[in-house]
Amino acid sequence: MSGMTHILSAARLNRLFLAGELSAVEIAESALSRIAKVEPQVGAFLHVAAEHVLDRAKKLDARRRAGDNEFGPLAGVPIAVKDNICTCGMETTCASRMLKGYVSPYDATVVERLRASGAMIIGKTNMDEFAMGSSGEASAFQTTRNPWDLERVPGGSSSGSAAAVAAGEVPLALGTDTGGSIRQPAAFTGVVGLKPTYGYVSRYGVVSFASSLDQVGPLGHDVEDVARLFEVIAGPDRRDATNAGRTPPELKFGGDPSLAGVRLGVPRELFGQGIDSGVKARVEEAIRQLEDLGATVEECSLPSTEYALSAYYVIALAEASSNLARYDGVRYGFRAAQTGGLTEMYSKTRGEGFGAEVKRRIMLGTYVLSSGHYDAYYRKAQQVRTLVVRDFERAFERFDALVTPTTPFTAWRIGEKIDDPMAMYLGDICTIPVNLAGLPAISVPCGFVDGLPVGMQLIGKHFADAQLLQMAWAYQKVTKHHESRPVLTEEGGR
Ligand code: GLN
Repeated sequence: MSGMTHILSAARLNRLFLAGELSAVEIAESALSRIAKVEPQVGAFLHVAAEHVLDRAKKLDARRRAGDNEFGPLAGVPIAVKDNICTCGMETTCASRMLKGYVSPYDATVVERLRASGAMIIGKTNMDEFAMGSSGEASAFQTTRNPWDLERVPGGSSSGSAAAVAAGEVPLALGTDTGGSIRQPAAFTGVVGLKPTYGYVSRYGVVSFASSLDQVGPLGHDVEDVARLFEVIAGPDRRDATNAGRTPPELKFGGDPSLAGVRLGVPRELFGQGIDSGVKARVEEAIRQLEDLGATVEECSLPSTEYALSAYYVIALAEASSNLARYDGVRYGFRAAQTGGLTEMYSKTRGEGFGAEVKRRIMLGTYVLSSGHYDAYYRKAQQVRTLVVRDFERAFERFDALVTPTTPFTAWRIGEKIDDPMAMYLGDICTIPVNLAGLPAISVPCGFVDGLPVGMQLIGKHFADAQLLQMAWAYQKVTKHHESRPVLTEEGGR
């Protein structure tokens, strides 16, 4: 059995562990051997915690042998964690020189919950620096490659989390999503990614990018695994002031998949100009399958979508400029070598510690908040945000969920958009309105264009994450897209 864990689901691994058919050590070793095999090509991890995971596995095995039957739902499951989520005993760098070598003295709440559920954290994944980007290329340390085509980006900013799942290195991973960073890489790498409702999952111990938008969420091969991880991480946490204090309902999957009585809206703005025809065709096929499952489908409109992208790139950057002020070389992280005075120390530290994209965003964010420009940019963007929220409210009077492509196009070539930030930003058009409105959304694989995965996005009402997962489950039950796996060179493929 060992050596095969890369094709088994988290649910299956958990069952095999509980039944004593596979030890946690065997599972961990198998995952580590898969990582050793494919990492040279994929580059998903910044840090593989081999010793830690084996030690943890031994403890789980000892507990099971001693007759402990109080195991949580992820017992024996190896999980990768995005590197902007704090983990005791492992670096948390946000893929930035600014935090190279930084080890957090505490665990994020989501990590605490992972540990309590019996999960085995196997390492930290690569990302765009401070979660700012859509390709992974903004990492200060390495480029993660798309397992479906190693010349292409895996998407971002949860690049390594998506690639690690797609490459079979782990069955599940945690990502964060401020404007699409779970869903877009999930779409590009052919996996499932859920951005929960704003406030469902604690962000305590998650490095802030844009606090009114950030959420943590799961990535995995299938909806059931993703739901399992969501249930573990979601729920009340008094240490996060934005946490809504809600516990998700218990999720059960089974029986005949049916969407009878479900009303789905298709926003015409996200099927028009700028959406690749192949992507559009795959999502339209998926919509027909949702209809076959019993859903009623009607076109609708989100008229403010046109302005959502601009509003996001004002609000997110304004918040980032404030959040990133803490990296000043004083208390932790990088400090520039011997400098003249305090001001020079600040500016050299930040000049050398941050990468180009992060600096661009801090400067733009500071500009839109400055006294002469606040009204023209920041206030305007907040007004647009209200319009986006109202668009969704209106749509949800008639529909239970909305269906869109997750991204306007499939994964692009490494380097293709690196010098054109606008082109990169435009790819976020389908995911960003969801964050502005704080809604839950899931990306599920819905086919391929020229061998590259396509994602369908389902958007739900506030705190309707469970319903969304049910819908996505029904879709996966009658399709096979999520079962396709990329073939990596070591296995004699591409
Ligand atoms: N691609 C978007 C950005 O660059 C979203 C990032 C994210 O969700 N963290 O801001």
